[in-house]
Amino acid sequence: MSTLWSQLARDISPYVPGEQPRIANLVKLNTNENPFGPSPKVTEAILAAAGDMLRLYPDPQSTRLREALASYHKVEPEQVFVGNGSDEVLAHAFAALLKQSEPVRFPDVTYSFYPIYCRLLEIDHEVVPLDVEMRVRVDDYVGRTGPVIIANPNAPTGIALPRTEIERLAGARAEAAVVIDEAYVDFGAESAVSLIQKFPNLLVVQTMSKSRALAGLRVGYAIGDAGLVDALTRVKDSFNSYPLGLPAQAGAIASLNDEAYFLQTRSAVIRNREDLTTELVRFGFEILPSSANFVFARHPRHSGRTLSAALRERAVLVRHFDAPRISEFLRISIGSVTDHIRLTEALSEILGGIE
Ligand SMILES: *Cc1c(COP(=O)(O)O)cnc(C)c1O
Repeated sequence: MSTLWSQLARDISPYVPGEQPRIANLVKLNTNENPFGPSPKVTEAILAAAGDMLRLYPDPQSTRLREALASYHKVEPEQVFVGNGSDEVLAHAFAALLKQSEPVRFPDVTYSFYPIYCRLLEIDHEVVPLDVEMRVRVDDYVGRTGPVIIANPNAPTGIALPRTEIERLAGARAEAAVVIDEAYVDFGAESAVSLIQKFPNLLVVQTMSKSRALAGLRVGYAIGDAGLVDALTRVKDSFNSYPLGLPAQAGAIASLNDEAYFLQTRSAVIRNREDLTTELVRFGFEILPSSANFVFARHPRHSGRTLSAALRERAVLVRHFDAPRISEFLRISIGSVTDHIRLTEALSEILGGIE
């Protein structure tokens, strides 16, 4: 640790993303990337944006993209905020909405970035345990005051709450912000976007990284009451006026305009998830019910750490979290049919065939 470091740099413990190694012939099922790639129209739009216009700063408010998102989600552009990946949008939501005199509450098992933002931004937080089936119990939140953030579907469990439960949560605490992180919603959960007209305290965060295969472009957004969006914009304009470059804005709009490609690849991911689940059950895995583009699986006789290491030796990467309650699980991203063949071949070697 350098004496040149600030107290802040010393105190924080940064998020550790899934590794992006360069291994030949790698089957990469560790960061929930989309196996199908973006729509070809996205690539065309990005190439078209990569010309002389790059001399100029992009539109700081990403107006055209916000209009496109508003029309796609049937809201007003004033109700849409965009950022450099939803991680950035979430960070701004913590600073703009969730930093209050009362602690922000979120589940003990959830996206591990939330406590890291709390540390960075000096936000008091309280974790609320999932129940024994690893589900979020909305009753644990409704009787309390103070802000809340929940991922729906939750990560890394993949388990989703129905929209009626989000409605109950948002309605129970009109005085505090409720942020719903819908990074995986397109793979089978109900979005809360339609509730934002009714609940001025509800902010719904989505990303183009997973269901639109644009993790490398960094486009995330939030939808909520114009008052909430104003708060996020004030924080953003105090940090980085131009979070989205011109190619990112153009590519994101092109993705929204290719609904057929979106629906087709999303269905393929869901189909592969169902097939992979069947296959893993044959190997003896227990799997939580997933509404996401990954499954959270545990083997009754093999530890999560050993299995993930044995898979890595066979150039198959999955995610293992060395954390309380989940250290026996593997989070396996949904890949292509070929990826899954390689995974099941490796599992056959490790586990000695199907039980
Ligand atoms: C992947 C993920 C995000 C962030 O995605 P971006 O690529 O930054 O848009 C946010 N929340 C959860 C729960 C995620 O899994």
